Amino acid sequence: TDGIRPLVAGNWKMNGLRRSVDTIEALKSHAQEGVLERIDMLVCPPATLVALAVKTMDTVPIHIGGQTCHPAENGAHTGDIAPEMLLDVGASYVLTGHSERRTDHGETDEVVHAQTLGAWRAGLCAIVCVGETKDEREAGNEVSVVAGQIAGSVPDGATAENTVVAYEPVWAIGTGLTPTVDDIAAMHDAIRAELTNRFGDEGAKMRILYGGSVKPGNAADVLAPNNVDGALVGGASLSASDFMGIADAVA
Ligand code: PEP
Repeated sequence: TDGIRPLVAGNWKMNGLRRSVDTIEALKSHAQEGVLERIDMLVCPPATLVALAVKTMDTVPIHIGGQTCHPAENGAHTGDIAPEMLLDVGASYVLTGHSERRTDHGETDEVVHAQTLGAWRAGLCAIVCVGETKDEREAGNEVSVVAGQIAGSVPDGATAENTVVAYEPVWAIGTGLTPTVDDIAAMHDAIRAELTNRFGDEGAKMRILYGGSVKPGNAADVLAPNNVDGALVGGASLSASDFMGIADAVA
């Protein structure tokens, strides 16, 4: 969208050991000032690597984020990670409501709403993920499903600073399939209308990312529509050169 600074975000999912910091090093060396002047970049490694990734990135302004968070600041929640803990080790973003969290951990819109409020409380920017399943698209319900997820998952008080919306059709994640450019444009226009209707000027300025099988070869096409303000990249973010290739296509 005109006047919105794009964001290219990578989600490593449950991939990465300490040696994967090589990928962060490679990103640092590939990162061109020109690209980072025009767009924001973010890497979300597994929680075990957030601190190391922040430390390794040091001089290059590529942000580091978490992949999920608990709504609370601390307490008896074994295995969970508070947004304040992510902030404490240098993260600035966190994904909420990724479809794999919704499916594998039964995270509902209500849970994602609470996690997003937690992210804001800590001072993190939340990337709220939404997207329809294959059945929902085939039934022609994709816009109403996504609108419902946004209504339920994005709390009142969302601003262009504290929230990014990522549209990720579940059937396009990790499958090599993508919607047509027209379908992406139509969904992003619908999301923009929802956000502007609810949040006014902040909604008009909020970044809306597309995610689902974005690769260097298709990035320029799938990210071309007016209301696509960047990408959320899974598989291709594990390769520094592929991830930079996508960033170059956006910048
Ligand atoms: C994702 O998990 O957010 C994603 C978009 O994955 P992929 O790029 O591998 O489809």
